[in-house]
Amino acid sequence: MQRYSLLSLLRHGLNRHTTWAPAWRSLPLRERYEVIVIGAGGHGLATAYYLAKEHGITDIAVLESGWLGGGNIARNTVTIRSNYMRDASIPFYVKSVTLYEQMTRELNFNTMHSRRGMIDVIQTWGMMRDRRRRQHIMDLHGSTYEQITTAELRRRIPALTGGGAEARLPILGGFVHPEAAVNRHDAVAWAYARAINAMGGEIHQQTPVTQLMRGPDGRIAGVVTPRGVIRAPKVAVAVSGHTTTLTETVGLKLPLRTMNLTAFVSEPVQPLIDVIVNCPDAGFYLSQSDKGELVIGGAPDPGQSFRRDIKQTVFEDTVSAMLSLFPAFKGLKMLRQWGGHLDIAHDASPIQDETDVPGLFVTAGWWGGYKAIPAGGLTLAHLVATGRPHPLMAPFSIKRFRHLDYVMESGTTTAR
Ligand SMILES: Cc1cc2nc3c(=O)[nH]c(=O)nc-3n(C[C@H](O)[C@H](O)[C@H](O)COP(=O)(O)OP(=O)(O)OC[C@H]3O[C@@H](n4cnc5c(N)ncnc54)[C@H](O)[C@@H]3O)c2cc1C
Repeated sequence: MQRYSLLSLLRHGLNRHTTWAPAWRSLPLRERYEVIVIGAGGHGLATAYYLAKEHGITDIAVLESGWLGGGNIARNTVTIRSNYMRDASIPFYVKSVTLYEQMTRELNFNTMHSRRGMIDVIQTWGMMRDRRRRQHIMDLHGSTYEQITTAELRRRIPALTGGGAEARLPILGGFVHPEAAVNRHDAVAWAYARAINAMGGEIHQQTPVTQLMRGPDGRIAGVVTPRGVIRAPKVAVAVSGHTTTLTETVGLKLPLRTMNLTAFVSEPVQPLIDVIVNCPDAGFYLSQSDKGELVIGGAPDPGQSFRRDIKQTVFEDTVSAMLSLFPAFKGLKMLRQWGGHLDIAHDASPIQDETDVPGLFVTAGWWGGYKAIPAGGLTLAHLVATGRPHPLMAPFSIKRFRHLDYVMESGTTTAR
């Protein structure tokens, strides 16, 4: 893998940047691999990366229906955090945040990781109790939540001028999660792709899987694509909102629903806000990008949906919630809106397991799963390679739905 450094930048700059080798190769698609990973989103790429890095499995094809970084990996609002509620969840997200912090150095690719912290703005006593509970549980697992007063909250976020004593929901205080960060999501996809390629793995774009194939023994045998049948004894499905569409081709129903989550950005403005601001009672969150745009997200659209834009009602609700706390943003122009379709399980926790079809693995239910990408890849690779669940992921087995042993998680989305 060619190293990126100040020196190499200077050297290639002298040659007008014509001497860089391609970051990854496009190889011919073969008929057989040791492992097929379906979906070159964050979870698929991270799985392929850790299969090669940790387990020496390099005979891998990652099959992507669209293009690298075209799924939710580049549609999210890049909030990385570990302020979850459950004992099962927090250690997993702590690990993921740590892996993100090391990513630029480990993959020699600048992901622009910025640990800017997140502040929750609390406006109801119910939410205050939820956050105090989280604080104690997080403390047990090495993740930080610090309660701050309303005065301190306003000092740290000067643009937050709403929510005063006369408001319908006055601000009661805040919680700071210092480990929270943002980074550059397309860089994460490219960084993994480059590393996978350097270790011998293959990424095939424009290669949708239309069907999974079982052998006569009932095991997974491979996949069908418009480019032909590709065989492998192990297949990992990492296709986000399309999980059930694929698994149902081998008769496998999963307890997942697909829903639309959206975001929008404002025109760029001067530096205003240097933390991620999350307002769970109002129902929105925002941060400011390096370009100056305010990146704003709201509550999900609760209906089953495959749409990739924002519903007018969701947009209006999010904007009116934002203006109740940031009235000065009224004059801001909105530049872009978009959405993604994500799958969510009944208990809002992920599913990562080998399925009832031997050799077929799924990683799904990643509502708010951008932050989970490195640890999700690490743990799925462990399961695929060794056949044993990684301890960090063991509670998220699909068997929990059989035993009604749910991990009911209130920390999955930021906005509620
Ligand atoms: C608006 C929005 C804001 C968000 N904000 C955050 C946030 O701030 N923090 C956070 O942690 N998470 C956030 N998320 C969620 C996060 O983006 C997802 O949970 C995460 O990206 C899921 O990763 P993935 O790898 O499972 O899916 P994806 O990145 O979507 O990858 C799945 C890939 O599979 C491909 N695919 C689908 N079907 C097939 C097929 N049949 N054959 C081959 N390939 C296929 C798709 O093209 C896609 O590239 C947000 C999501 C949205 C939409």
